[in-house]
Amino acid sequence: MKNTMESQGKVIGVDFNDEEKNKIFNIIDRSEITFVESKREDSFEDVVGNKDAYVILIPWRHWVRLSNNMKDKSLKNFYIKKIENSFFGDSDILTECVVAISSKLLKEDEELKGIIDEAKGIYNFISNLKKEIALYKELYFRKATQLDFLDDFFKTVTLPRSVKKILENGFLRIRDYFAVNSLCILIPGENNGYKFYVTNNKNFWINYVEKKLKLKKNSLDVVTLGIEVQTDKDCEIVDVSPSLENFKVFISIDTDHMGYDDFAVLEMAIDHLCLLIQRGVEYEKLSSFAYIDFLTGVGNRHYFDMVIKQEIKRHERLGSKFSVVMIDIDHFKDINDRFGHVAGDMVLNQLASIIKDNAREIDHVIRYGGEEFLLILPHTNKENGRIFAERLRKTIENHKFVIDNGKTIKITVSMGVSEFDPKGKYPIEDILKSADSALYNSKEMGRNRVSVV
Ligand code: GH3
Ligand code: MG
Ligand code: MG
Repeated sequence: MKNTMESQGKVIGVDFNDEEKNKIFNIIDRSEITFVESKREDSFEDVVGNKDAYVILIPWRHWVRLSNNMKDKSLKNFYIKKIENSFFGDSDILTECVVAISSKLLKEDEELKGIIDEAKGIYNFISNLKKEIALYKELYFRKATQLDFLDDFFKTVTLPRSVKKILENGFLRIRDYFAVNSLCILIPGENNGYKFYVTNNKNFWINYVEKKLKLKKNSLDVVTLGIEVQTDKDCEIVDVSPSLENFKVFISIDTDHMGYDDFAVLEMAIDHLCLLIQRGVEYEKLSSFAYIDFLTGVGNRHYFDMVIKQEIKRHERLGSKFSVVMIDIDHFKDINDRFGHVAGDMVLNQLASIIKDNAREIDHVIRYGGEEFLLILPHTNKENGRIFAERLRKTIENHKFVIDNGKTIKITVSMGVSEFDPKGKYPIEDILKSADSALYNSKEMGRNRVSVV
């Protein structure tokens, strides 16, 4: 028996019996293999630790008898596998063997090193591929959420018609998608100025915008939007003004967590938002025209229909009364006949101004028909309504109406006052009917007077 530790063979077989050895000789040249016997069945490490051998064959029956501990230890220290047929060609004998390769010699063996390097290469390739797939996955996820955001954003800002609502819907979506501290937008307003819509931090933004755009102090027409958009993230101010002329948008936003593509999404959203605001401004202008009487600039009948419902609801809720005053010019036909229709129009126009100037901010002035005006006086009972109407009547009676080339005329009006009491259930027609019948009384009693029902 040869000494295991002195063996020079490239392959060492441990504890094989003669029958097994003969089978092994069928595939491995006798000079290639040295057979040894271990002193103890479990002294596997002694054998495998051989410095010169790089392949050690151990009988499978030997391997399975080792304790699990021993197996674990061996697996940790050595490259061990059950031999596949293909390793030594087409033979079944070596399926009976376990091969152990000394870890020390593994390092020195170029061929095996090559295999391992190649495996390492493949492993790196796979792990890079895995990383790349993870990146793509993240990218797709980002794109999908960005598309979801834009889809939701476009839907919610396209629906409303009022500028304020468009902005509130849009800014809320931006707040929910990005970490935003506050936002503001300037849109072209009256007299080449700006209308300034702002969320929170109003004073900060007014200051900022006045400086940034070199505006006169307190020149902004400010509207505070009814939304809160605060975040606890660190934010910086970003100018996201669109290409649309005279639109400026500033956002205090957490840019640290925004990618280049996030900015593109934000800009796309803001561009769209501004286009819709432009449309909203036009719409508001048009719809306000629909409620305004062209000759006098006060509310028209449509305005009355809208506002009377709102006032009834509001006063019902508050349990408060309001008055309606109907005003009709006395013998207006004569004025037209004597001075012409244009002069008549001038009188109507000036009368509307007098009524507006004498009414409060909260009162509604309406041109109800040709030479008939209506006043809604919120939170005013009929006694106070009468007092107001009487004062107005006197003002009109004393006023000199300019008709032509400085020529002036005087007119008088008759009025009827009625009251809405939330305790009595009056339909709109009843409020008008009673004001009209009070007006009729005034006419009957000689005109230029106020009557109350
Ligand atoms: P009364 O004191 O009974 O109210 O007499 P009146 O002449 O004011 O009443 P009437 O209803 O007979 O005539 C109203 C006139 O108002 C008839 C119409 O020519 C004139 N009118 C109505 N709308 C306009 C308008 O837009 N411009 C002008 N210039 N006149 C108008
Ligand atoms: Mg009339
Ligand atoms: Mg009249």
